Amino acid sequence: MKKTIKTVLSIALVVNFQLSIIRTVAAQDTSYMRYNLRSLTSERMKGRGYSFRGDSIAAEYIRVELKRLGVEPLVEGYYQPYTFSVHSMEGPVSMMVDKKRLEPYTQYRIPSWSKSSWGDYPIVKVPCETLIDAAKMKKFLNKNNSRLDDAFVYIDRTTFKADNDEEQKKYDAIMYLLSSRNPFNSKGIIVGVKELSTYSPAGSDKEHSYAYIEVLASEMPRKAKKLNCNFFTQFHPRYQTQNIYGYVQGEVDTMIVYSAHYDHLGTMGDSIVFYGAHDNGSGVATLLDIARDAVTSKPHYTTVFCFFSGEEAGLKGSKYAVDHPVFDFSKVRLMINIDMFCGGDEGLMIFNANDPKTTEFVQRLEQINKALQIVPEIRRRDNRANSDHWFFSQKVPAIFILTMGQRYGGYHDPKDTCDRCGLENYINYVTLISALGL
Ligand SMILES: [Zn+2]
Repeated sequence: MKKTIKTVLSIALVVNFQLSIIRTVAAQDTSYMRYNLRSLTSERMKGRGYSFRGDSIAAEYIRVELKRLGVEPLVEGYYQPYTFSVHSMEGPVSMMVDKKRLEPYTQYRIPSWSKSSWGDYPIVKVPCETLIDAAKMKKFLNKNNSRLDDAFVYIDRTTFKADNDEEQKKYDAIMYLLSSRNPFNSKGIIVGVKELSTYSPAGSDKEHSYAYIEVLASEMPRKAKKLNCNFFTQFHPRYQTQNIYGYVQGEVDTMIVYSAHYDHLGTMGDSIVFYGAHDNGSGVATLLDIARDAVTSKPHYTTVFCFFSGEEAGLKGSKYAVDHPVFDFSKVRLMINIDMFCGGDEGLMIFNANDPKTTEFVQRLEQINKALQIVPEIRRRDNRANSDHWFFSQKVPAIFILTMGQRYGGYHDPKDTCDRCGLENYINYVTLISALGL
């Protein structure tokens, strides 16, 4: 984005949204955004998560970039340090059942909160009906007690046939509990599923006493007897990380605050990297682009840029930011959180769009869009705890903007790479959003 955006939008507002603006806007370039997105999703960032300190590698990159642009530090050295508890997974990851080697991520997933495991283990199959029948469970435990200690139990979820909805609900609840409680006291639990769960670093804030693997039931040998596995996780009760803040002084102290989380899922061991282009390299690169524009265009409002970590682990960074403010919340005119900004061929979605504190801004976007047809649709959503605007929205007018459509590699998937991030609409979208900062 170039500095002309502010001028272009001011003109657009004054001359009643001349349609010619589209051509002017489309002529802006995406090179700086693309450059940052490529850097943030490169191998050396390790998925910006909690394995290999990927979050801190990304933080340092953002800090250097802010300094280079001439964005002032809002706190000393741009960093607000804090800690939270999290798990990481580094080192080799492998799984072999009998003689069949399974593919990590596509055929099985190990959450980072699982306990480490390496070596050979017997597999003890648990019929799934056993789990919802106390008598059957007792019998199973009595019969297998001596061999469970050093074994992995295998439960094939896909074979369960519930008699009614209530039984299905009960079964689902018991299966869910297996991620935090091991009724077999076994070395580990393997759950066979039809579709693997979305990968996420959240799930537990304490150390686990057993290993947990989710596998595609269709890939498990029918009479699985032996497991050979290797994976290494670590629990960090006080993981050191940081939020990052910069600002550009405006003509007035009233603030427009932009935020984006820079953390992502990191890695599943050495081999699987979650690059996180859409989520949320795109948001961070957008903020840096807006920051570059703000430095040269001298904005009316003071413009603050927040880069949060800990989002993927449960909005940890933005919660800390609200509890330990580094700027005056009473001066915030609007906070705009950007999270997942690739593609957008179907338009934009705005969360917390119906809050009385934010509707005037959303209306403004809708009016501009109606006149200029910049995006196919602006969809309003009520507030949800689905990104970093959530805790702020209880203190300041805050919205969360994301793109709609499929032009990105995948959600919480290693395929969410820079190359798959569609930027055809980027200039139009960022121009529209920048109108809120005028
Ligand atoms: Zn995100």
